[in-house]
Amino acid sequence: MTASTPSGQSSGAGGDAGTTLPRSDALASERPPRREEPPDPSPLTLLDFYPPQDPRWTRIAPFFLALKDGRFTTTRCTRDGTFHWPPAVACPKCHREELQWVDLPTHGRLYAFSEVRGGAPLGMEGGVPFVVGLVDLPGAPLRLFSRIVGRPYAELALGEPVRFETFPIRDGRLFYRFRAGGEPATR
Ligand SMILES: [Zn+2]
Repeated sequence: MTASTPSGQSSGAGGDAGTTLPRSDALASERPPRREEPPDPSPLTLLDFYPPQDPRWTRIAPFFLALKDGRFTTTRCTRDGTFHWPPAVACPKCHREELQWVDLPTHGRLYAFSEVRGGAPLGMEGGVPFVVGLVDLPGAPLRLFSRIVGRPYAELALGEPVRFETFPIRDGRLFYRFRAGGEPATR
């Protein structure tokens, strides 16, 4: 399997609506959104032009497939045991490609957080203000960057328990975020 490149995109003939790559003119026509478009199920739309959930375009597609199963995963080097975040196709420590997919804890604690009040990345302007944070997961030597939902910025606290969840983005794909408050996820 090879990595995707802009020049490598195809018409996507035969693919379904979720995996067909948009052409550049199609992307341009979506900015600004057409009035007849249905409202977003989430205020967050990701700025990625090549659907990362499709194994044709990325070797980290298993991460997104696991999200559909409610699982939070990443890669771990089978040689030196290094955990990677985000998921990798080669170990940054030893440069080998013999990696395994491992499940991560789905609850953690908020190590740091901030509120985005302006200057949001393209596609995320509609969600302002929103909270982002760093999450520590018990037993996993990783500190993850994530959107933080469930409680406004002024009511969050360092060390607060947060739990993983998936949510749909506009085109039907899933992404992850962490939610403050409530009971920790059971898996
Ligand atoms: Zn390694």
